Amino acid sequence: MYCKTCLFPNTKPDINFNSQGICDSCVSAKKKHGLYKSINWKIRSKQFDQILKKSKNFSTNYYNCIVPVSGGKDSTWQVYAMKKIHKMRPLAVTFDQFDQTDLGKKNLETLKEIGVDHVHFTLNPVLIKRLVKIGFEIVGDPYWINHVGILTVPIHFACKFNIPLVVYGENPLFEYGGPEFDRDNYVMDKKWRQQHGGMRGLREDDLLGKDIDLEDIKMLFFPSDDEIRRAKVQAVFYGHFFKWDPLKHTEFVKKFGWRQLKKPQVGSWSLTENIDMRFIDVREKIKYLKYGYGRATDQLNIAIKLNKISRKEALKIVKKIDGLADPKNEKSFCDYLNISREKYDEILSSFVNQDLFVKGNKGKWLPKFKRV
Ligand SMILES: [Zn+2]
Repeated sequence: MYCKTCLFPNTKPDINFNSQGICDSCVSAKKKHGLYKSINWKIRSKQFDQILKKSKNFSTNYYNCIVPVSGGKDSTWQVYAMKKIHKMRPLAVTFDQFDQTDLGKKNLETLKEIGVDHVHFTLNPVLIKRLVKIGFEIVGDPYWINHVGILTVPIHFACKFNIPLVVYGENPLFEYGGPEFDRDNYVMDKKWRQQHGGMRGLREDDLLGKDIDLEDIKMLFFPSDDEIRRAKVQAVFYGHFFKWDPLKHTEFVKKFGWRQLKKPQVGSWSLTENIDMRFIDVREKIKYLKYGYGRATDQLNIAIKLNKISRKEALKIVKKIDGLADPKNEKSFCDYLNISREKYDEILSSFVNQDLFVKGNKGKWLPKFKRV
């Protein structure tokens, strides 16, 4: 079953459909743009002002908020927003992207040029490689470590430097669908990270005995409740308080020299997303084999909701490109992890949903479903 207004299938985890066959991410989009049970953005913006006021009162040093950043269009815009619109003194914190592209690096430099202090945190690369492999093998997501890192390391900096506020970007559950209660929740805490932060059931404690000394990855453990209470740290989603508009962010940050891709990555459609992730096609190929949809679906759904493309046109595109990976890139990924192509295919196959795919003659997984 597919959503009537976007391209999400009901095989996407945590998605719900209403009686008209419309998914909850589309219902959120309607609420956001005032077409159904509208959100009162004025009230929410006032609520955000209160949070900022509290943070200013509690902060004991130069910084009064942290913005976790990758150098993508959204985090670049967010730094601008916190500094220039909300008149805060942000510290930008990056959790190093293990496969960062050259363009990703340049864009991160552009972000700093907005005029912000920046901490680039890099976990020991020997451990990172092991953790990428564990994420790939156990949960089918080589970026597991990145989800953990970006949702944890900035909270450590907030606790250690007594910075009471951490401002993340959009609320993914509101924008892309998720359990009803969490769609309207604006706080990112340990529970949220465990359930919705891309951890896929694998917790940092589970790494015990996997050739990882837990003492070496203390930065990946969420700070204790006591630490958080002591520094009065709260992490929130900016997209709960203001209308999240990736197209607007892109147009805006381009003025500062932020650059988009010249052509989309394989399996993707957008020129402005995941620019810093060299192996995004590998991750999305596995997602496609697990759930029957990939990155192109996510990206085109955003465009559909912003009325930039019709569902019909978007459907034609996803049929052609969703779930594809560049074989050269797959080889580079194998080289990075020091595994053979056969091992790689074996790991991929372990994640295939065989209700959705069947193995063809040449060993390729073929969809049993028809996208409509
Ligand atoms: Zn939908």
